[in-house]
Amino acid sequence: MYARLLRVLESVQEQYLHDPDLADDAARHAFTWRLVEEAERIAGEIWDKRDNRTVGEMGVNVVRAALAAYAEAEDRVIKSEIIGRIPARAVHERYNAWAYLEAEFTPRTDFESVDAGAATAEFWRRRAAESHVDIDRAGDCPAYSGVDPIEDLALEPIVNWTDADKKWALEKAVEQAGLEPGEWIELDWPPSGFLMSAGYMYQTEFESCEAHADAYDESGDESASEDCQHCRPVEMVVEEMAQWSLTTTMWLRDITFDNNGDERIPQGAAVNDFEVAVIEQDPRDIMIGPPGAGRYW
Ligand SMILES: [Zn+2]
Repeated sequence: MYARLLRVLESVQEQYLHDPDLADDAARHAFTWRLVEEAERIAGEIWDKRDNRTVGEMGVNVVRAALAAYAEAEDRVIKSEIIGRIPARAVHERYNAWAYLEAEFTPRTDFESVDAGAATAEFWRRRAAESHVDIDRAGDCPAYSGVDPIEDLALEPIVNWTDADKKWALEKAVEQAGLEPGEWIELDWPPSGFLMSAGYMYQTEFESCEAHADAYDESGDESASEDCQHCRPVEMVVEEMAQWSLTTTMWLRDITFDNNGDERIPQGAAVNDFEVAVIEQDPRDIMIGPPGAGRYW
């Protein structure tokens, strides 16, 4: 009991707390004794509140029940008196130290200037060629009309993620989730893209000028007026850009300690799909391939 509390205190002090008042051995021992007293007081409260008829009178059962009450009290003391003293971001910054440090040496990506056109097409054409599959650019074929929904086949714009992007995303996640002492956030990296909207584009009709109207009505041939300044040629008009959501899984972890007082391997629940950024793409530039990019080809 004393040993576990001392060990937790020492490891928290060393890793996160760096409290000058706990710098020497004697201070840490004195502090731990106060924690033991506090745990005993709380265990007493737990004991008083419970229905002790369920324990019975057998000595062994009473001892077990008392130990269980003490264990619960000890965990509460660890949480409130030790973990509760850690500055809110300290654990987060230590677990993500690498991203935070490297972020100083790399620039952040400007999501508005991600090349979702030529560079993305080039990347996916090369990948497709290596895997011997066919891909199309939406703008080079008539409106997509396959069986699978386009969002299952669209190939995401290529983002050259940097550590600065990761730090920025972590900060955004912290702001969204908030951090209690002892908690930190982990993001699976890099994010992946999901086509939220394929945008909207349409083709205009050919409109001949007066001079070419008769010829066009007769032949239906647009080529005769190709060089005419007044005929309006067929055009693709982009009315709405395609939208990609770049998301990843966010994990909210918190530190816990085993029976010896050693920090456990971090555990925690996946909170949700965390949206790192939204980027736009000209709907003509959407690359369409067979499903399973990155898994099957
Ligand atoms: Zn004309």
